[in-house]
Amino acid sequence: MDELRKQLFYEQKNGYDLISADEHVAAEEYCRSYIDFLNDSRTEREAVINAIRLAREQGFVEYQPGMALTPGMKVYSCNRGKALMLAVIGKRSLADGVVIAGAHIDSPRLDLKQIPVYETDELCYFRTHYYGGIKKYQWVTIPLELHGVVVLKNGEVVDVRIGREPGEPRFVITDLLPHLAKDQMKKTMSEGISGESLNIIIGSVPYADEGKDRVKLAVLSVLNDMYGIAEEDFLSAELTAVPAFDACEIGLDRSMIGGYGHDDRVCAYAELKAIFDVKDPVRTCVCILADKEETGSDGVSGMQSRAFDTFMEDLCAAQNVDVRRCFEKSFCLSADVTAAFDPLYPDVSEKRSEAKFNYGMGISKFTGARGKSGTSDASAEVVAYLRRLFDKAGVVWQMAELGKVDQGGGGTIAMFMANRNIDTIDAGVPVMSMHAPFELVAKLDCYMTYKGVLAAYSDD
Ligand code: MN
Ligand code: MN
Repeated sequence: MDELRKQLFYEQKNGYDLISADEHVAAEEYCRSYIDFLNDSRTEREAVINAIRLAREQGFVEYQPGMALTPGMKVYSCNRGKALMLAVIGKRSLADGVVIAGAHIDSPRLDLKQIPVYETDELCYFRTHYYGGIKKYQWVTIPLELHGVVVLKNGEVVDVRIGREPGEPRFVITDLLPHLAKDQMKKTMSEGISGESLNIIIGSVPYADEGKDRVKLAVLSVLNDMYGIAEEDFLSAELTAVPAFDACEIGLDRSMIGGYGHDDRVCAYAELKAIFDVKDPVRTCVCILADKEETGSDGVSGMQSRAFDTFMEDLCAAQNVDVRRCFEKSFCLSADVTAAFDPLYPDVSEKRSEAKFNYGMGISKFTGARGKSGTSDASAEVVAYLRRLFDKAGVVWQMAELGKVDQGGGGTIAMFMANRNIDTIDAGVPVMSMHAPFELVAKLDCYMTYKGVLAAYSDD
Protein backbone atom coordinates (compact mmCIF):
# COMPACT_ATOMS: atom_id res chain seq x y z
CA MET A 1 0.00 0.00 0.00
CA ASP A 2 2.83 2.40 0.83
CA GLU A 3 4.30 1.78 -2.57
CA LEU A 4 0.96 2.48 -4.24
CA ARG A 5 0.48 5.61 -2.18
CA LYS A 6 3.87 6.88 -3.24
CA GLN A 7 2.96 6.17 -6.81
CA LEU A 8 -0.48 7.76 -6.83
CA PHE A 9 -0.55 10.55 -4.25
CA TYR A 10 0.79 14.04 -4.91
CA GLU A 11 2.77 15.08 -1.88
CA GLN A 12 4.58 18.34 -1.42
CA LYS A 13 7.83 18.63 0.46
CA ASN A 14 9.32 21.51 2.41
CA GLY A 15 12.06 23.07 0.31
CA TYR A 16 14.59 22.64 3.09
CA ASP A 17 14.16 18.86 2.77
CA LEU A 18 15.04 19.13 -0.90
CA ILE A 19 17.97 21.52 -1.25
CA SER A 20 21.66 20.79 -0.73
CA ALA A 21 23.96 22.58 1.71
CA ASP A 22 25.63 24.34 -1.22
CA GLU A 23 22.31 25.58 -2.44
CA HIS A 24 21.48 26.86 1.01
CA VAL A 25 24.67 28.92 0.94
CA ALA A 26 23.85 30.20 -2.56
CA ALA A 27 20.38 31.22 -1.39
CA GLU A 28 21.84 33.21 1.52
CA GLU A 29 24.24 35.02 -0.78
CA TYR A 30 21.48 35.77 -3.27
CA CYS A 31 19.24 37.18 -0.54
CA ARG A 32 21.97 39.46 0.79
CA SER A 33 22.27 41.16 -2.58
CA TYR A 34 18.48 41.34 -2.88
CA ILE A 35 18.23 43.13 0.48
CA ASP A 36 20.74 45.73 -0.78
CA PHE A 37 18.75 46.23 -3.98
CA LEU A 38 15.47 46.58 -2.08
CA ASN A 39 16.87 49.08 0.42
CA ASP A 40 18.06 51.31 -2.40
CA SER A 41 15.00 50.93 -4.71
CA ARG A 42 12.12 52.63 -2.92
CA THR A 43 10.27 53.76 -6.05
CA GLU A 44 9.99 52.55 -9.64
CA ARG A 45 12.36 55.34 -10.71
CA GLU A 46 15.01 54.26 -8.21
CA ALA A 47 14.55 50.61 -9.18
CA VAL A 48 15.16 51.54 -12.82
CA ILE A 49 18.30 53.52 -11.95
CA ASN A 50 19.70 50.62 -9.92
CA ALA A 51 18.76 48.04 -12.52
CA ILE A 52 20.50 50.03 -15.27
CA ARG A 53 23.61 50.44 -13.13
CA LEU A 54 23.75 46.69 -12.46
CA ALA A 55 23.01 45.88 -16.11
CA ARG A 56 25.80 48.12 -17.38
CA GLU A 57 28.21 46.36 -15.02
CA GLN A 58 27.15 43.15 -16.75
CA GLY A 59 27.86 44.53 -20.22
CA PHE A 60 24.38 45.65 -21.23
CA VAL A 61 24.26 48.65 -23.56
CA GLU A 62 21.39 50.99 -24.29
CA TYR A 63 19.43 49.82 -27.31
CA GLN A 64 19.42 52.24 -30.24
CA PRO A 65 16.90 51.79 -33.05
CA GLY A 66 18.57 50.21 -36.06
CA MET A 67 21.30 48.55 -34.00
CA ALA A 68 22.55 45.24 -35.46
CA LEU A 69 21.74 42.48 -32.98
CA THR A 70 23.96 39.43 -32.86
CA PRO A 71 23.68 36.40 -30.57
CA GLY A 72 25.00 37.13 -27.11
CA MET A 73 24.38 40.88 -27.33
CA LYS A 74 22.89 42.46 -24.22
CA VAL A 75 20.68 45.52 -24.60
CA TYR A 76 18.28 47.54 -22.49
CA SER A 77 15.66 50.16 -23.16
CA CYS A 78 14.44 52.54 -20.48
CA ASN A 79 10.88 53.84 -20.72
CA ARG A 80 10.78 57.38 -19.32
CA GLY A 81 12.83 56.46 -16.26
CA LYS A 82 9.99 54.38 -14.83
CA ALA A 83 10.09 51.06 -16.62
CA LEU A 84 12.85 48.98 -18.14
CA MET A 85 13.20 46.24 -20.73
CA LEU A 86 16.35 44.19 -21.14
CA ALA A 87 17.22 41.52 -23.68
CA VAL A 88 19.98 39.00 -24.28
CA ILE A 89 19.93 37.99 -27.93
CA GLY A 90 19.72 34.24 -28.42
CA LYS A 91 21.28 31.93 -30.97
CA ARG A 92 17.98 31.18 -32.64
CA SER A 93 15.94 33.64 -34.67
CA LEU A 94 13.24 35.72 -33.00
CA ALA A 95 10.88 33.90 -35.37
CA ASP A 96 11.17 31.01 -32.88
CA GLY A 97 9.84 33.26 -30.12
CA VAL A 98 11.45 34.75 -27.04
CA VAL A 99 11.42 33.89 -23.34
CA ILE A 100 9.99 36.76 -21.33
CA ALA A 101 9.94 37.33 -17.60
CA GLY A 102 7.84 40.30 -16.52
CA ALA A 103 7.70 41.81 -13.05
CA HIS A 104 6.60 45.20 -11.78
CA ILE A 105 8.63 47.69 -9.78
CA ASP A 106 5.89 49.98 -8.48
CA SER A 107 4.55 49.30 -4.98
CA PRO A 108 1.70 50.66 -2.88
CA ARG A 109 2.57 54.01 -1.28
CA LEU A 110 1.32 57.48 -0.40
CA ASP A 111 1.70 59.97 -3.23
CA LEU A 112 1.65 63.68 -2.37
CA LYS A 113 -1.25 65.62 -3.88
CA GLN A 114 -0.39 68.33 -6.40
CA ILE A 115 -1.12 71.16 -3.90
CA PRO A 116 0.00 69.24 -0.83
CA VAL A 117 1.33 71.77 1.68
CA TYR A 118 -0.99 73.28 4.27
CA GLU A 119 -0.77 74.71 7.75
CA THR A 120 -3.34 74.26 10.48
CA ASP A 121 -3.10 75.11 14.16
CA GLU A 122 0.55 76.09 13.73
CA LEU A 123 1.54 72.69 12.35
CA CYS A 124 2.42 72.00 8.72
CA TYR A 125 1.35 68.97 6.65
CA PHE A 126 1.53 67.25 3.26
CA ARG A 127 -1.77 66.00 1.88
CA THR A 128 -1.55 62.59 0.18
CA HIS A 129 -3.45 60.41 -2.24
CA TYR A 130 -2.67 56.74 -1.79
CA TYR A 131 -1.40 54.64 -4.71
CA GLY A 132 -2.37 50.97 -5.05
CA GLY A 133 -4.44 48.87 -2.69
CA ILE A 134 -3.63 49.67 0.92
CA LYS A 135 -5.17 49.09 4.33
CA LYS A 136 -5.05 52.72 5.42
CA TYR A 137 -4.75 52.05 9.13
CA GLN A 138 -1.37 50.39 8.52
CA TRP A 139 0.20 53.63 7.28
CA VAL A 140 -0.18 55.76 10.41
CA THR A 141 2.41 55.92 13.21
CA ILE A 142 5.22 54.47 11.10
CA PRO A 143 8.32 56.38 9.97
CA LEU A 144 8.09 57.58 6.36
CA GLU A 145 10.65 58.78 3.83
CA LEU A 146 10.07 61.11 0.91
CA HIS A 147 11.19 60.15 -2.60
CA GLY A 148 10.55 61.40 -6.09
CA VAL A 149 11.08 64.21 -8.53
CA VAL A 150 10.06 67.81 -8.86
CA VAL A 151 10.11 68.99 -12.45
CA LEU A 152 10.55 72.74 -12.62
CA LYS A 153 8.66 74.85 -15.12
CA ASN A 154 11.78 75.03 -17.28
CA GLY A 155 11.95 71.23 -17.45
CA GLU A 156 14.80 70.79 -15.03
CA VAL A 157 14.35 67.62 -12.94
CA VAL A 158 15.11 67.88 -9.23
CA ASP A 159 15.58 64.56 -7.44
CA VAL A 160 14.19 64.47 -3.92
CA ARG A 161 15.20 61.88 -1.34
CA ILE A 162 14.74 62.67 2.34
CA GLY A 163 14.90 60.17 5.17
CA ARG A 164 16.71 57.23 3.58
CA GLU A 165 20.16 58.02 4.95
CA PRO A 166 20.94 57.72 8.66
CA GLY A 167 20.70 61.10 10.35
CA GLU A 168 18.16 62.50 7.91
CA PRO A 169 14.74 63.57 9.20
CA ARG A 170 11.72 61.36 8.55
CA PHE A 171 7.97 61.88 8.53
CA VAL A 172 4.89 60.37 10.11
CA ILE A 173 1.09 60.33 10.07
CA THR A 174 -0.36 60.54 13.56
CA ASP A 175 -3.17 58.43 15.01
CA LEU A 176 -5.55 59.01 17.88
CA LEU A 177 -4.53 57.94 21.37
CA PRO A 178 -6.61 54.99 22.66
CA HIS A 179 -7.79 57.13 25.57
CA LEU A 180 -9.82 59.29 23.18
CA ALA A 181 -10.57 56.74 20.47
CA LYS A 182 -13.94 55.53 21.74
CA ASP A 183 -15.79 56.61 18.59
CA GLN A 184 -12.97 55.75 16.19
CA MET A 185 -12.70 52.21 17.56
CA LYS A 186 -16.35 51.57 16.75
CA LYS A 187 -15.71 52.20 13.05
CA THR A 188 -14.81 49.43 10.62
CA MET A 189 -11.16 48.95 9.77
CA SER A 190 -11.69 50.50 6.35
CA GLU A 191 -13.32 53.60 7.88
CA GLY A 192 -11.21 54.08 11.04
CA ILE A 193 -8.57 55.94 9.05
CA SER A 194 -9.88 57.77 5.98
CA GLY A 195 -8.00 58.59 2.79
CA GLU A 196 -8.31 62.32 3.39
CA SER A 197 -6.85 61.97 6.88
CA LEU A 198 -3.57 60.47 5.65
CA ASN A 199 -1.76 63.78 6.11
CA ILE A 200 1.94 63.76 6.84
CA ILE A 201 3.32 66.11 9.47
CA ILE A 202 6.31 68.06 8.15
CA GLY A 203 7.00 70.92 10.58
CA SER A 204 6.06 72.84 13.70
CA VAL A 205 8.39 75.84 14.12
CA PRO A 206 7.01 79.22 12.91
CA TYR A 207 9.04 81.58 10.76
CA ALA A 208 10.51 84.31 12.99
CA ASP A 209 8.30 87.15 11.77
CA GLU A 210 4.71 88.40 11.81
CA GLY A 211 1.90 87.17 9.52
CA LYS A 212 -0.09 84.07 8.62
CA ASP A 213 1.05 80.51 7.87
CA ARG A 214 4.41 81.07 9.52
CA VAL A 215 5.16 77.33 9.94
CA LYS A 216 4.37 76.68 6.30
CA LEU A 217 6.67 79.56 5.37
CA ALA A 218 9.47 78.10 7.49
CA VAL A 219 9.01 74.61 6.01
CA LEU A 220 8.95 75.93 2.44
CA SER A 221 12.13 77.91 3.21
CA VAL A 222 13.85 74.65 4.21
CA LEU A 223 12.72 72.98 0.98
CA ASN A 224 13.85 76.01 -0.99
CA ASP A 225 17.27 75.88 0.65
CA MET A 226 17.58 72.14 -0.05
CA TYR A 227 16.14 71.91 -3.56
CA GLY A 228 15.51 75.44 -4.85
CA ILE A 229 11.78 74.77 -5.18
CA ALA A 230 8.70 76.85 -4.31
CA GLU A 231 5.14 75.75 -3.54
CA GLU A 232 4.04 76.09 -7.17
CA ASP A 233 6.61 73.47 -8.20
CA PHE A 234 4.61 70.75 -6.44
CA LEU A 235 2.13 71.11 -9.32
CA SER A 236 4.56 69.24 -11.54
CA ALA A 237 6.07 66.90 -8.96
CA GLU A 238 5.86 63.19 -8.32
CA LEU A 239 6.66 62.88 -4.67
CA THR A 240 5.83 59.84 -2.67
CA ALA A 241 6.03 58.82 0.97
CA VAL A 242 7.19 55.27 1.54
CA PRO A 243 7.88 53.37 4.76
CA ALA A 244 11.29 54.14 6.22
CA PHE A 245 11.95 50.58 7.35
CA ASP A 246 15.14 48.89 6.23
CA ALA A 247 14.75 45.42 4.82
CA CYS A 248 16.11 42.91 7.29
CA GLU A 249 16.34 39.27 8.19
CA ILE A 250 13.41 38.01 10.24
CA GLY A 251 13.29 35.15 12.71
CA LEU A 252 15.79 33.58 15.09
CA ASP A 253 16.84 31.34 12.21
CA ARG A 254 17.08 34.38 9.89
CA SER A 255 15.12 32.44 7.29
CA MET A 256 12.83 35.27 6.18
CA ILE A 257 13.13 38.83 4.93
CA GLY A 258 10.93 41.69 6.07
CA GLY A 259 10.80 44.84 3.99
CA TYR A 260 8.81 47.42 2.09
CA GLY A 261 8.06 46.71 -1.58
CA HIS A 262 8.70 42.97 -1.91
CA ASP A 263 5.63 43.18 -4.18
CA ASP A 264 7.05 43.06 -6.72
CA ARG A 265 10.70 44.03 -6.46
CA VAL A 266 11.43 40.56 -5.11
CA CYS A 267 10.50 39.11 -8.52
CA ALA A 268 12.03 42.05 -10.39
CA TYR A 269 15.37 41.31 -8.75
CA ALA A 270 15.03 37.58 -9.48
CA GLU A 271 14.53 38.37 -13.17
CA LEU A 272 17.44 40.79 -13.26
CA LYS A 273 19.82 38.36 -11.62
CA ALA A 274 18.61 35.60 -13.96
CA ILE A 275 19.12 37.63 -17.13
CA PHE A 276 22.59 38.58 -15.86
CA ASP A 277 23.45 34.93 -15.21
CA VAL A 278 22.02 33.27 -18.32
CA LYS A 279 24.82 31.95 -20.54
CA ASP A 280 24.54 31.93 -24.35
CA PRO A 281 20.77 31.46 -24.43
CA VAL A 282 19.25 29.55 -27.32
CA ARG A 283 16.19 31.77 -27.48
CA THR A 284 16.32 35.52 -26.89
CA CYS A 285 15.63 36.38 -23.24
CA VAL A 286 13.61 39.45 -22.36
CA CYS A 287 13.29 40.94 -18.89
CA ILE A 288 10.51 43.45 -18.19
CA LEU A 289 10.40 45.71 -15.17
CA ALA A 290 7.01 47.37 -15.51
CA ASP A 291 5.40 50.32 -13.77
CA LYS A 292 1.75 50.98 -12.83
CA GLU A 293 0.79 47.35 -12.10
CA GLU A 294 -0.69 48.39 -8.77
CA THR A 295 -3.13 50.73 -10.52
CA GLY A 296 -4.11 48.38 -13.35
CA SER A 297 -1.12 48.51 -15.75
CA ASP A 298 -2.60 51.46 -17.64
CA GLY A 299 -0.52 54.38 -18.76
CA VAL A 300 2.57 55.00 -20.79
CA SER A 301 4.88 53.09 -18.45
CA GLY A 302 2.44 50.28 -17.62
CA MET A 303 2.28 46.85 -19.26
CA GLN A 304 -0.61 47.89 -21.47
CA SER A 305 1.57 50.56 -23.05
CA ARG A 306 2.79 50.05 -26.60
CA ALA A 307 6.32 50.68 -25.33
CA PHE A 308 6.83 46.93 -24.98
CA ASP A 309 5.51 46.22 -28.48
CA THR A 310 7.74 48.93 -29.89
CA PHE A 311 10.80 47.39 -28.24
CA MET A 312 9.89 43.92 -29.51
CA GLU A 313 9.06 45.19 -33.00
CA ASP A 314 12.50 46.81 -33.11
CA LEU A 315 14.25 43.61 -32.05
CA CYS A 316 12.24 41.63 -34.60
CA ALA A 317 12.88 44.16 -37.36
CA ALA A 318 16.63 43.71 -36.85
CA GLN A 319 16.16 40.06 -37.86
CA ASN A 320 13.43 40.66 -40.46
CA VAL A 321 10.89 38.84 -38.33
CA ASP A 322 7.20 39.67 -38.03
CA VAL A 323 6.60 40.48 -34.37
CA ARG A 324 3.25 38.65 -34.48
CA ARG A 325 5.05 35.43 -35.43
CA CYS A 326 7.52 36.05 -32.62
CA PHE A 327 4.79 36.60 -30.02
CA GLU A 328 2.80 33.49 -30.92
CA LYS A 329 5.86 31.33 -30.25
CA SER A 330 7.00 33.19 -27.15
CA PHE A 331 6.64 32.19 -23.53
CA CYS A 332 6.16 34.59 -20.62
CA LEU A 333 6.61 34.08 -16.91
CA SER A 334 4.57 36.82 -15.32
CA ALA A 335 6.75 37.05 -12.24
CA ASP A 336 4.62 38.52 -9.49
CA VAL A 337 4.20 37.73 -5.84
CA THR A 338 1.35 35.57 -4.61
CA ALA A 339 -0.31 35.29 -1.21
CA ALA A 340 1.38 32.90 1.19
CA PHE A 341 -0.79 30.85 3.53
CA ASP A 342 -0.80 32.65 6.87
CA PRO A 343 -1.59 30.37 9.86
CA LEU A 344 -2.84 33.43 11.78
CA TYR A 345 -5.61 33.92 9.21
CA PRO A 346 -6.58 30.43 8.04
CA ASP A 347 -10.23 31.35 7.43
CA VAL A 348 -9.58 33.08 4.09
CA SER A 349 -7.45 30.26 2.74
CA GLU A 350 -7.97 26.93 1.12
CA LYS A 351 -4.86 25.28 2.45
CA ARG A 352 -4.45 22.64 -0.23
CA SER A 353 -4.19 25.16 -3.03
CA GLU A 354 -2.37 28.02 -1.37
CA ALA A 355 1.35 28.76 -1.49
CA LYS A 356 3.33 28.08 1.65
CA PHE A 357 6.57 29.59 2.90
CA ASN A 358 9.64 27.51 1.98
CA TYR A 359 7.81 25.43 -0.60
CA GLY A 360 9.43 27.39 -3.41
CA MET A 361 8.32 29.50 -6.34
CA GLY A 362 4.52 29.76 -6.50
CA ILE A 363 2.90 28.98 -9.84
CA SER A 364 -0.60 30.37 -10.38
CA LYS A 365 -2.45 28.86 -13.31
CA PHE A 366 -4.95 31.65 -12.89
CA THR A 367 -5.52 34.75 -10.76
CA GLY A 368 -8.59 37.00 -10.95
CA ALA A 369 -11.68 37.06 -8.74
CA ARG A 370 -15.05 35.31 -8.39
CA GLY A 371 -15.50 33.00 -11.42
CA LYS A 372 -11.87 33.56 -12.51
CA SER A 373 -12.83 37.01 -13.78
CA GLY A 374 -9.89 39.12 -14.93
CA THR A 375 -7.36 36.38 -15.52
CA SER A 376 -5.60 34.91 -18.51
CA ASP A 377 -5.69 31.36 -17.05
CA ALA A 378 -2.68 29.53 -18.47
CA SER A 379 -3.40 26.37 -20.42
CA ALA A 380 -2.70 22.88 -19.09
CA GLU A 381 -0.04 22.57 -21.79
CA VAL A 382 1.81 25.58 -20.41
CA VAL A 383 1.62 24.24 -16.84
CA ALA A 384 2.94 20.87 -18.04
CA TYR A 385 5.84 22.63 -19.74
CA LEU A 386 6.74 24.35 -16.47
CA ARG A 387 6.50 21.06 -14.54
CA ARG A 388 9.01 19.53 -16.96
CA LEU A 389 11.27 22.57 -16.99
CA PHE A 390 11.41 23.15 -13.23
CA ASP A 391 11.81 19.50 -12.32
CA LYS A 392 14.69 19.19 -14.79
CA ALA A 393 16.38 22.31 -13.39
CA GLY A 394 15.87 21.39 -9.72
CA VAL A 395 13.61 24.36 -9.02
CA VAL A 396 11.54 23.95 -5.85
CA TRP A 397 8.07 25.13 -6.78
CA GLN A 398 4.45 24.81 -5.78
CA MET A 399 0.99 25.51 -7.11
CA ALA A 400 -0.55 28.70 -5.72
CA GLU A 401 -4.04 30.15 -5.59
CA LEU A 402 -4.96 33.48 -4.03
CA GLY A 403 -7.25 32.54 -1.13
CA LYS A 404 -10.62 30.85 -1.00
CA VAL A 405 -13.05 31.05 -3.89
CA ASP A 406 -15.08 34.27 -3.59
CA GLN A 407 -12.88 35.61 -0.76
CA GLY A 408 -11.35 38.28 -2.96
CA GLY A 409 -8.74 38.07 -5.67
CA GLY A 410 -6.10 39.91 -7.56
CA GLY A 411 -4.44 40.42 -10.89
CA THR A 412 -1.00 40.82 -12.39
CA ILE A 413 0.42 41.76 -15.78
CA ALA A 414 -0.21 38.20 -17.04
CA MET A 415 -3.42 38.98 -18.93
CA PHE A 416 -1.83 41.87 -20.81
CA MET A 417 0.95 39.59 -22.02
CA ALA A 418 -1.48 36.78 -22.89
CA ASN A 419 -3.70 39.25 -24.78
CA ARG A 420 -0.70 39.82 -27.05
CA ASN A 421 -0.91 36.16 -28.09
CA ILE A 422 1.96 35.12 -25.81
CA ASP A 423 1.66 31.93 -23.71
CA THR A 424 1.80 33.33 -20.19
CA ILE A 425 1.72 31.99 -16.67
CA ASP A 426 1.97 33.65 -13.27
CA ALA A 427 4.83 32.61 -11.06
CA GLY A 428 6.48 34.29 -8.12
CA VAL A 429 7.37 34.58 -4.47
CA PRO A 430 4.71 33.88 -1.79
CA VAL A 431 4.29 36.88 0.52
CA MET A 432 2.69 37.44 3.91
CA SER A 433 1.25 40.86 4.79
CA MET A 434 1.19 41.75 1.09
CA HIS A 435 0.75 45.50 0.40
CA ALA A 436 1.53 46.31 4.05
CA PRO A 437 4.32 48.81 4.79
CA PHE A 438 6.44 45.84 5.90
CA GLU A 439 5.93 42.64 3.92
CA LEU A 440 7.37 39.21 4.66
CA VAL A 441 8.92 36.61 2.35
CA ALA A 442 10.93 33.42 2.87
CA LYS A 443 14.51 33.37 1.60
CA LEU A 444 14.24 29.94 0.01
CA ASP A 445 11.29 31.07 -2.11
CA CYS A 446 13.16 34.21 -3.26
CA TYR A 447 16.10 32.13 -4.40
CA MET A 448 13.90 29.53 -6.10
CA THR A 449 12.14 32.29 -8.04
CA TYR A 450 15.50 33.40 -9.36
CA LYS A 451 16.28 29.77 -10.23
CA GLY A 452 12.91 29.37 -11.93
CA VAL A 453 13.38 32.41 -14.14
CA LEU A 454 16.94 31.29 -14.94
CA ALA A 455 15.61 27.85 -15.91
CA ALA A 456 13.14 29.47 -18.33
CA TYR A 457 15.81 31.72 -19.83
CA SER A 458 18.24 28.79 -20.15
CA ASP A 459 15.79 26.35 -21.76
CA ASP A 460 16.63 25.13 -25.22
MN1 MN B 1 2.36 42.44 -7.63
MN1 MN C 1 0.46 44.27 -5.60
